[in-house]
Amino acid sequence: MLDIENIRQLVENKRYQVKLHALQHALKEGFGEKDIVAAILSGRIIETYQERQRVLICGQATTETQEMNIEPDLKPPFCSEHHIPMVWGETDFTYAEDGVEVVVRHIPAWVCPHGDDAAFPPGVTDELIETIRELIAVAKRTQAQRPSLSQQEYLVKVMALP
Ligand SMILES: [Zn+2]
Repeated sequence: MLDIENIRQLVENKRYQVKLHALQHALKEGFGEKDIVAAILSGRIIETYQERQRVLICGQATTETQEMNIEPDLKPPFCSEHHIPMVWGETDFTYAEDGVEVVVRHIPAWVCPHGDDAAFPPGVTDELIETIRELIAVAKRTQAQRPSLSQQEYLVKVMALP
């Protein structure tokens, strides 16, 4: 079973992923991957869900407690719904706030073959959060300047450099 020392070591060695669910909370509640990591490094286990190989950690560095999937090694994370290993691929992510919606496509991630869940490797989550916040800000400015527009859609495409 995972204990807190074990978990800290995995986190320090960047052997973790952040799941979609945590990213949604992070955006809504205003924290980031760094906060999650800080909470784990300073926190303690307050609940253990043995059958799901999952623990709930309470740490001081964040605004609230967070669930995080810690994988004991470099094997792919499991889908919490289907209990099968995820595969490396790409996912789309949608976030809505105050009447604007941001969709980021083709994010490299571990994904469930059934398409219901995704998990991001270390470092990806904070980059996503920053990108989505900037896009939300742009969309809200447009909304404020032209409140009469019923629906407007923009597509931002990031191409790989040659
Ligand atoms: Zn699944």
